Formats: sequence, C-alpha cells, structure tokens
Amino acid sequence: MVTMSRREWAGSVLAGTLAAVSPKPQTYAVVGAGVFGAWTAYHLLAAGHKVILLDEYGPASSRASSGGETRIIRCAYGPDEVYTRMAHRSLSLWSNFCEQTGLDLLHRVGVLWIATPNNEYAQQSREMLRKVGVQFEDISASELARRYPQIQSESGAVAIYEPESGALMARRAVQAVVEQFVKHGGVYRHAAVKAPHGKGKLRSVLTNQRESIAADAFVFACGPWLGKVFPDLLGNRIFPTRQEVLFFGIPPGDRRFEPPQLPVWIDFGDNRGMYGFPDIETRGFKLAFDHHGPAFDPDSESRLVTPDKIKEAREYVAERFPALADAPIVDSRVCQYENTSNGDFVIDRHPEFENVWFAGGGSGHGFKHGPAVGEYTAARVTGRADPAVEPRFSLASKGTEQHRSVY
Ligand SMILES: Cc1cc2nc3c(=O)[nH]c(=O)nc-3n(C[C@H](O)[C@H](O)[C@H](O)COP(=O)(O)OP(=O)(O)OC[C@H]3O[C@@H](n4cnc5c(N)ncnc54)[C@H](O)[C@@H]3O)c2cc1C
Repeated sequence: MVTMSRREWAGSVLAGTLAAVSPKPQTYAVVGAGVFGAWTAYHLLAAGHKVILLDEYGPASSRASSGGETRIIRCAYGPDEVYTRMAHRSLSLWSNFCEQTGLDLLHRVGVLWIATPNNEYAQQSREMLRKVGVQFEDISASELARRYPQIQSESGAVAIYEPESGALMARRAVQAVVEQFVKHGGVYRHAAVKAPHGKGKLRSVLTNQRESIAADAFVFACGPWLGKVFPDLLGNRIFPTRQEVLFFGIPPGDRRFEPPQLPVWIDFGDNRGMYGFPDIETRGFKLAFDHHGPAFDPDSESRLVTPDKIKEAREYVAERFPALADAPIVDSRVCQYENTSNGDFVIDRHPEFENVWFAGGGSGHGFKHGPAVGEYTAARVTGRADPAVEPRFSLASKGTEQHRSVY
C-alpha cells in the first residue's frame, strides 16, 4: 500500500485525466454509495471539492445492485465504441486503485467469450477491440477444447479471450472506494435522503434523521431506487428486474474450476445469456442468467432464489460443465438490474433543477464502468469539458418501454 498526503492522492487520481484540482472548491452531496455514487464522490473529492456521500442501507449493501461477490470486467462490446473505451479506461482506473491501496480487488483471470464461428457480435467485437487497442486472442474450436476440457461448448464453437480482463470483487471494491474517500477527507453518512420537491436551485435535502444537508449541487446515484426518488421523471424510465445467481460447490480437491484453469466465461452460443466465474476466493463456481427477470422492488422483495431458476441452472451446468452436474448449490444471490429502455446509462441534469444531477441505469453492465462513470459524472457536475458529453447518456434518449439490450 502507498501512503500519500491528500494532495499527492488527488494528484495521482487526476494523473492521466484532463482534470485538475479546481481553483474554486464547491460543496457537493452525492446520494447513493453504490459503484456509481462512490466513484463520483471520489472524483469530486480528488478535484478539491468538499463532498458528502450518503446511503440509506450502507455502501454496496445486500439490497444494492453493487452488492454481492463479483462482477465481470471485460472490454468486448460488439461494435460499441463508447462502452469499449469506457471499459478499457475503467480497467486501468480499477488497476491504479488496487495498486494505490494494496487491495486485491481486481482478479485478472481473463474473460472467455464463447461463440459460433460466424457470430456477428463477436466479429464486431474483434474489430472494435483492435481499434481501441485492447489485447485479445482468437481461440479456434480445437484450441478451445484443448485448453478448457471442463467446458462442453457447442460443436464448432470458437472464442475471444481477453487476458487483461476478469473479475472485480464487487461489494469489497465499493466499500474500499468509500473508505479511501473518507480517508482523504470526504464525509460519509448512513442516512436516507428524502426526495427533493420544487424547481430552480435546490439549497438542501433532508435526511430521515431530520438533518438538512446543504450543497452547491446534488448527485442522485440511487441505482434501482431512482424511479422511487423521482417518480414523475424516472418512474417509467428505470425498470428494476429480478436477477438470480447461484454458486455450485467444487468437487473435493478438483482444481479445474479455479483460475487460471478456468477464466470468467460468457456463453454467446445457443445458450446466449449465461455467464459465470471460476472459483474465486473459494466461493464456488458462479453461474448467472443475463435474461431480464420479472419486475422487482429493491426494498421489500425476497432474495431467495426460485426453484425454476435452480432447475434451469442445473440443466445448463449438466450440459456445459458436466463434472458439476451433481454439485451442490453452496450459495445464491438475488440482485436487481436497473434497466433503461435501451441499456444505455442515464447521466444527466434534472430538467427542473439547475443543480441536481442523476447517474444510474447501469442495466446489468454498469459495475465495471464505475470509475469512468464517476469521472464522467464529476465532469458534468463541475462543468468541465472532458470527457465530452455523451448524448446516449441523456434523459432525452430514453424511452418509457424496456427493450432487451445487447450489453
Ligand atoms: C446479478 C447482477 C449481475 C451483474 N453483473 C455485472 C457484471 O458482471 N459486470 C458489470 O459491469 N455489471 C454487472 N451488473 C450491473 C451492476 O452491478 C450495476 O449496474 C451497478 O452496480 C449499479 O450501481 P449503482 O451505483 O447505480 O446502483 P446501486 O449499487 O444500487 O447503488 C445505489 C445506492 O443508492 C442508495 N439509495 C437509494 N435511494 C437512496 C436514498 N433515498 N437515500 C440514500 N441512499 C439511497 C442505495 O442504498 C444504494 O446503495 C450486475 C448486476 C446484477 C444485479
């Protein structure tokens, strides 16, 4: 771990960005300490501002979308240059963060995209990875079978392998960002913030503890709660859906399911929509479904997995990972995606308040982008020009019906 003064720390966070310590420090309140809010607060603090971060359940709690063990970080996004570049940028920011703190939060175990040879999305990904300069390897069908005999891919399947990508330790990573934020002078409060009403300039918000929090500007990074906080504006633009995750126990002494024998994998074949993790930190083999589940309330709904999903998961594992066909389920999680109509993030200013912003709509792929989202949001809020405004993140670009996105 590197020990630094606040000034040195800010310099190291800002190094490599076009941002500098602001000559006119302002006060900002960030509501929501998930991955988007934590990184936004972190970047605002590094730019020299006074920042308070608040969360009603605590950073990356069991109800938050950023909770749980692990999240994939990968750069392949088909032909999408915006997210390919953001993921690549975030990979380097996560890596710097781990170096500075000495924490093992990024496991570069590699990400394997398994697809049919003529899969268009995979072909577009190869072209974009080349353009952006992301390292990857093309793996032939015979090489795939040789390297990963524990995977029964579809006949003829090939793969793209990203060796620098892998898994982020989700809950621990967000909590570490908040700890560093506090260590370097940020203020964190465990409190629920009431929705603001009115228009024009917002002077303060009120917490459930009746504390009034005044700030020059406010960022609401409330994830799946954004629609509850701003029902008129976002109630029909953020769609939380139930997502289930299962961990299968590894047979005793079997090392085929731990890295580097098995990387993070995404099945882009007939069973597209399934993905999983090797046995990281001995939690077991993690399997998840990327199909959007039913609508979900993040405050009140049960987080027990359903028998239907267990059955579906078992069938899939028996087909693709036959050595785990009879493995016991050793853990499970129910989380929620907070989808926008098209899967693009929503990071914009509130149309009625000149100093209120929101950042959310991670749509099942937001975690990896936390550092770049924080950088982008901090730039918008402080009026910086870089990184440039991305029209796809605007509220205006979002519809009121949820479609399947390809992220
Ligand atoms: C099962 C699952 C798997 C996923 N897999 C991946 C993956 O592999 N890779 C990837 O990149 N992404 C993945 N994602 C998506 C990613 O995790 C989310 O997009 C991201 O975590 C969203 O972060 P957030 O900060 O917007 O929301 P959250 O983490 O939900 O944070 C919002 C916070 O706001 C707080 N809050 C809300 N209202 C208030 C209030 N009024 N006052 C105070 N606090 C409030 C909440 O308590 C919460 O902590 C996955 C998501 C799920 C559920």
